[in-house]
This record gives sequence, structure tokens and C-alpha cells, in this order.
Amino acid sequence: MTKQTKIRAAILVALLALTSAVSFVYWPSQMKDPTSVPATVQDEIETLETATTKQPTKTLEDWAQPYMDLKLVDAHNHSAANFAYGMKLDSLWNQYGVDRVVLFGNVSDPSAVHTDEMAWKAYQQHSDRFIPFASGINLLDPSGLQTVKEYLEKGFFGLGELAVASTYSEALAHSIWKTEHPMDGILPDIYALCAQYKAPILMHIDPPEGYPMLMLEEAADKYPDTIFIFAHANAFNSPDKIRSLLKEHPNVYADFFAGFTAFNPSSVYKLEDYVPIIKEFPDRFLLSTDSGYGISSEEDAIQAMYMLLEAVDDPEIAKKIASGNIERLIRDQPATRTQLAAIRQLENKSGQKYDTSNMSKEEAGKLLIENSQQMSSTQGK
Ligand SMILES: [Zn+2]
Repeated sequence: MTKQTKIRAAILVALLALTSAVSFVYWPSQMKDPTSVPATVQDEIETLETATTKQPTKTLEDWAQPYMDLKLVDAHNHSAANFAYGMKLDSLWNQYGVDRVVLFGNVSDPSAVHTDEMAWKAYQQHSDRFIPFASGINLLDPSGLQTVKEYLEKGFFGLGELAVASTYSEALAHSIWKTEHPMDGILPDIYALCAQYKAPILMHIDPPEGYPMLMLEEAADKYPDTIFIFAHANAFNSPDKIRSLLKEHPNVYADFFAGFTAFNPSSVYKLEDYVPIIKEFPDRFLLSTDSGYGISSEEDAIQAMYMLLEAVDDPEIAKKIASGNIERLIRDQPATRTQLAAIRQLENKSGQKYDTSNMSKEEAGKLLIENSQQMSSTQGK
């Protein structure tokens, strides 16, 4: 090995360690066929080398360009886990047309309490760009119900990603606060609470078959007013199975991780295979990157969203799945008592009156953030 080769190998190994450390927080890369995913460091290095030397014919900018007006929303992103969200605003989301991001960090683990705080902080700094979800909930203890209530009252727009069933995920199979299936632990009570707040719940279920999926169906039937978002519905899952789930259960939404289908070697389907069901249920698909988990990068995951939109080839449907559906789920949530109480306090202090009849959680959150920013800037003077 020459000195240069050694340095190059060291950089690749460091890069590899970094990408693993970041991405292993999330969900499975090898559920059914472990041999289809690079298993050794050497394989990973070769993959990286190929990825860095291959010249793409169409850049991500090219893909994003026709869709800049869509105001794309990434409905599933873990960037609160590694403080990356601030940097990504400039270097990633602004540049490639991602207008808003459903943000959280770690999943169903005590460490998620801290990453939820990060998601909240990101929202306080950029309320028009981040939609905070909460995952630091002990799903096995009645105290978790109080936690959920506090999160939703405070202004979080949903719960998730929650590990409600995980057998094969390297990241989630051993989550301390995970349940065994969607009717386990305190989940049923959480569904009832989510219905009250009209807050969606983003659920990780692997494998997407058998008993856990039966229990998801039972949950959807028993809690018809709860909005269930099936996380990365297309990962290791066929279009037909998604179709029957959506057909039977009008309150189930599919979070579509286009990057998995387009770029994960384990995917046996193509993006085009899912287009007919997207067209059949255009109001119930959301697009996401899952922060590029299991594929080479979040950039590729964003590109795959645009590839899907191109495959859908219908501006109305593109608008719905790219942003309209998730925006609606966020907009439909009413302001909470805690938010309204804070607004009343604000009125008492400022003498200004706000019309809070029919105020949404989103509007209340924005009002409170703007005023707290104003207050802190006047205090600083
Ligand atoms: Zn995820």
C-alpha cells in the first residue's frame, strides 16, 4: 500500500463509520435477504468508491428544478438526532426544493426524549420549515400516556416515528420502549388521545406482515378517528398489500420512502409499480426520505421523490402527495388548551387581542413563537 492509498482507505473507513453511526439509528436495511446488502467493510468501501466515481447524467438540481413550486414536504426525517437540521436547511433542503420537514430523531428509546427537544428547538427557530413529531414515549408504561398528552398540548404535531413492532430492524429491534404489536402496551390509549388532538401517529412495523399487521388493522378499525401513518409502507412491501390496507382502512395513510424502492438493492419493485395505487388513493400518500436510511444518501432519497413525481405524471396528484396531504393533516389540528392559555397570557401582557375562535394548532404555534422571539429581542435591547 502506498501512503496515498493508505490515507484514502483511512478516509473511506472513517466515512463508513460515520454513515453507519448516523443511519443505524433508524430502521432495517436487511430484513429478508441479508446477502443482498453489502455485508463487509470491503463491500461498503467498493460501494462508496463506485458511488463517488460514477458521473450522474442528471443532477439533483435538474430533478428538483421542475418541482420547485410544489413546496415539497419530507414527511419522515430523523435529522433532529445529529444536530444536522440547521446545516441541512442551507445545504440540502433550500437547494433541492424541500420546503418543510417532519422532524424527529431517535425512536422509542429514552434517548429520543433529548432528540424530541432538538426537534422542538428547530421548530422554534424555523416554524415555517419544521414540523416537530415526538418519539420519546415509553409505550410500555402508563406514564407514557401523560408524556403523549404533554407533547401534544405543547404543540407537537404528531407522534413518531414509534417502534410499535420490530423484529429485524438493526436499529429498532432492541428499542427499550418498543411494543410487540400495534395493540400492545399503552398504544390503544395513545390512539384515543391522538384522535382527540387529531394528531397523526407514524408507526414503524417490521416485518410488514403477519400478526403485527393484523393488529394494525384491528387498531385502525377500533380507532376510526385516529390517523395512522404506516412508516415507509413500500419498504419490503408489495403494492398489492398496501392497496388492500388502504382500501379496508380509510384512516390509514402510507408514508412512501421513494429512496428505498429506487435505490435500495433489497427492493424488488420499481417506483412505477406503485403509481397505480398512488393514483387510486391520491389523498393518502405522503412522501419521505427517512433521512436516506439504507441507501447511499439523503440526496438520493430526495431525488427518488422527484423520480416518483415524474412517474406519477399528474400535477394534481403530485401536489397532493408532495405536500397537500401532510399539510392538511397538520392544518386540521385545533389549537390546544395549553396554547390558548399561553395566548391569553400574551394578551394580558401586551394588551393586544387575538381571534382564537377556530384557531389551528399551527396558527397558535406560529403566533406564540413569533411573540416569544419579539419578547426576547426587546429584552436584549
Ligand atoms: Zn425512520
